[in-house]
Amino acid sequence: MLKTKKCNKCYVIKDIINFYKKGHSKDGYANECIECKKQIDKTYYLKNYDKLKILRDANKPRIKELFKRWSELNKDKRELYRKEYRAKNGELIRQKSRERYADNIEESRAVNREKYKNNSEHMRKLAKQWRENNLEKAKEISRKTKQKNRVKIAAHKKVYRQKNKEKLNAWSNDYQKCRRQKDIKYKLNGNMSNVIGRALRGNKNGWHWEDIVGYTLKDLMTHLEKRFTKEMSWKNHGIHGWHIDHIIPKSLWKFKNFTDREFRQCWSLCNLQPLWAMDNLNKGKKT
Ligand SMILES: [Zn+2]
Repeated sequence: MLKTKKCNKCYVIKDIINFYKKGHSKDGYANECIECKKQIDKTYYLKNYDKLKILRDANKPRIKELFKRWSELNKDKRELYRKEYRAKNGELIRQKSRERYADNIEESRAVNREKYKNNSEHMRKLAKQWRENNLEKAKEISRKTKQKNRVKIAAHKKVYRQKNKEKLNAWSNDYQKCRRQKDIKYKLNGNMSNVIGRALRGNKNGWHWEDIVGYTLKDLMTHLEKRFTKEMSWKNHGIHGWHIDHIIPKSLWKFKNFTDREFRQCWSLCNLQPLWAMDNLNKGKKT
């Protein structure tokens, strides 16, 4: 059995596994090593590109048919290869795909839009299903998107509000009044947003108050509940009941932006407590 062979291109003696098998040659192997053969083929391909292209184009249906037949026969092999390749190069593939998308952003978007339009019902169904299966993730994405586009969204809202002022006011007053009475979370959320917005004098820049202060509505409610006196409840929050009180009053803190340390201290949970509105007014007189 042949163990080594000298390549007649690079003249290196190599192990026989470095040669293609070739049935009709004397020893059953090609004369050039695989490496050289690849080089030869490549050079030939490049040199004769135009000629080969004509040939390829002329035989397109046949080549396609051949490939199809081959694919059918080697389904498992192809699938396995594809899987292995994706597992090995997953990040690269994703990156390439992202790059392609970014390089042709307008085109890519147009293609996506078209796809969506043609299949809108199906796409919506898919999206909805995904959201239902990935509730937390979906919420997180929505929140991040809103955060990312907050300036845009705030500007858009402003224009919209200006355009539809009267209609919105009438609707909003009724709706808010009704909902604030029924939904303490809604009421508290609105209050916090308003009070913090006023404290920042226009420097809130579309941020959600929870992201500014670093705790959630739920955190705030738990914090306040722990400090309720016997008679306090979410039912008597308001003018005729209790307020959220700043233990060290707002007026004593100096801040312009929510990034200022004193803003964070002023609005930190440990500076907030529930206090009867009457007591709060009295306290205001003292300080
Ligand atoms: Zn060689």
